[in-house]
Amino acid sequence: MKLIIATHNENKVNEFKKLLNEKVTVLSLSDLNDFEDIIEDGKTFFENSKIKSLGISNKYEGYFVLADDSGIEIEELNNLPGIYSARYSGGGDLANNLKVLNELEGKTNRKARFICHLTLAYNGKLLNDYLGVWEGTITNEIKGSNGFGYDSIFIPEGLNITAGEMDRDLKNSMSHRNIATLKFVNDFLNNKYL
Ligand code: IMP
Repeated sequence: MKLIIATHNENKVNEFKKLLNEKVTVLSLSDLNDFEDIIEDGKTFFENSKIKSLGISNKYEGYFVLADDSGIEIEELNNLPGIYSARYSGGGDLANNLKVLNELEGKTNRKARFICHLTLAYNGKLLNDYLGVWEGTITNEIKGSNGFGYDSIFIPEGLNITAGEMDRDLKNSMSHRNIATLKFVNDFLNNKYL
């Protein structure tokens, strides 16, 4: 089986390689030398993920294509940053975190969740989608530097440290991305799509 992960991020691709077996050839968009821009103009994680997986799948017949879209939803902010997570402040991670802390100042509802929505396509058709949700709360201050994005202001449910203070492997084994990925890997390795 041949699987394209619709990303240039080698860390994401390596996570998939670790979880899949030798029956699956895993390729990234960089492996295919495919640097064509995909315009993600959907309104949900699912839509954006689907735009990527279908767009790539239309170009590569006979390949399974898996795309992801992820981000953080904060209840008090009407579920923003959501699909705008990467560019919420117009600056980088630190500016995004400071914007969120500023907007939540004095607020009591600090519930938040990381979302990862995977979609799987084949020959231009959507086969399935897999949702991963990681619940938690937003801190009052930035803590920890192990992660990226909003990790340093997110305390996962059941813990008392931020994702940015967690050991990297531990975080990866609990995250929204892992939850969605394990659902996909389970189906894929059990030949659900053969
Ligand atoms: P992407 O869809 O994986 O590129 O994620 C989009 C944005 O969501 C990232 O740039 C981060 O700001 C945020 N995000 C997604 N996953 C995580 C995570 O595991 N930790 C922290 N931030 C994340």
